[in-house]
Amino acid sequence: MNVIYLDNNATTRTAPEVLEEMLPYFCEQYGNPSSMHSFGGNVGARLRQAREQIARLINADPDEIIFTSCGTESDNTAIWAALASQPDKRHIVSSKVEHPAVKNLCEHLAGKGYRITFVPVDRNGRLDMDYFYDHLTPDTALVTIMWANNETGVIFPIEKIAEFLNERNIVFHTDAVQAIGKIPIDIHSTGVDFLSLSGHKLHGPKGVGALYVRKGTKFSPFLIGGHQERGRRGGTENTASIIGLGRACEFVADHMEEENTRVRFLRDKLETQLTTRISHMRINGDRSQRLPNTTSVGFDYVEGESILLLMNELGICASSGSACTSGSLEPSHVLRAMGVPFTSAHGSIRFSLSVYNTETEIDFVIDKLPAIIERLRELSPFWKRS
Ligand SMILES: *Cc1c(COP(=O)(O)O)cnc(C)c1O
Repeated sequence: MNVIYLDNNATTRTAPEVLEEMLPYFCEQYGNPSSMHSFGGNVGARLRQAREQIARLINADPDEIIFTSCGTESDNTAIWAALASQPDKRHIVSSKVEHPAVKNLCEHLAGKGYRITFVPVDRNGRLDMDYFYDHLTPDTALVTIMWANNETGVIFPIEKIAEFLNERNIVFHTDAVQAIGKIPIDIHSTGVDFLSLSGHKLHGPKGVGALYVRKGTKFSPFLIGGHQERGRRGGTENTASIIGLGRACEFVADHMEEENTRVRFLRDKLETQLTTRISHMRINGDRSQRLPNTTSVGFDYVEGESILLLMNELGICASSGSACTSGSLEPSHVLRAMGVPFTSAHGSIRFSLSVYNTETEIDFVIDKLPAIIERLRELSPFWKRS
């Protein structure tokens, strides 16, 4: 059976171009980049090239890029570094809709004596900017707010937030794992101090990420060990994966135009066609400020998990809430923060596309999903009574 993969915010296919660049660095060029001999040193030179490729995607300086093991490590490193450099400050501002890599760390820090403000979002998943401005204090050590949300695709006004925080000298971290490669980002024109990205969300391999640290921003390492990354992150470099991440950054730069035209068209077609074919359905999230590949759709009187199971039988891969939330009966914290009614939040699924999707695949989903929803609603006592 053919798989129709519409779960690209969970992870993406490693691009064959990316894998091809990685392969020689396992069995042939396996040297340690820190070695004195040129067998290792050549790999070190190749890592410099990867660092440049990553930097180029966001218009950063290569020296501002630190390789990490994943988006989660980048998020954790930035947050701990910001707190360590300002030991007197005990307040953090974040949002109610962060990925667990930020949200759960903030909750952990709340148990360690930090005060956390989680800025709410409105019905469309947009950040409440007045609430944000009102809750910054002289005690605020860090603001950590994602660039784009993984469940709804809603994009936050990061440039505006950065400019405001810069004038007040407040450290700013943004989790840009979902935004990177989908929308243009010019980090030098913003005042962002820390930015996280992850390889497997942009057609690179899993288990590698990067952290941008703005020149002049105070930093302290999360992994203390060898002198790798100029002492900013110990541990022998994951050479093949870093090289893959560098190539993946080029791949998404080359496809950004397509992402914002063809992929956006497919996403929009999916939404409008489902809307005309299925009643009692809503799109979760602001339609204008949104990633081109993501849609979160809520169906009343059905369970998201049931929809996923029936779609799975047809080879269609999507998700309900974030991968980390599914498996529990609670609807996603993102949809709850948006005030999505309980019934609709329970029946919400996320489709996230990539440049590998075709119109034939989208048409297949448009053709099959209405019958799935109808079948499930027939089983629901609430649907019959409504
Ligand atoms: C996937 C994701 C992460 C975590 O990245 P990993 O590389 O899987 O650790 C963090 N933030 C967001 C918004 C994500 O979508």
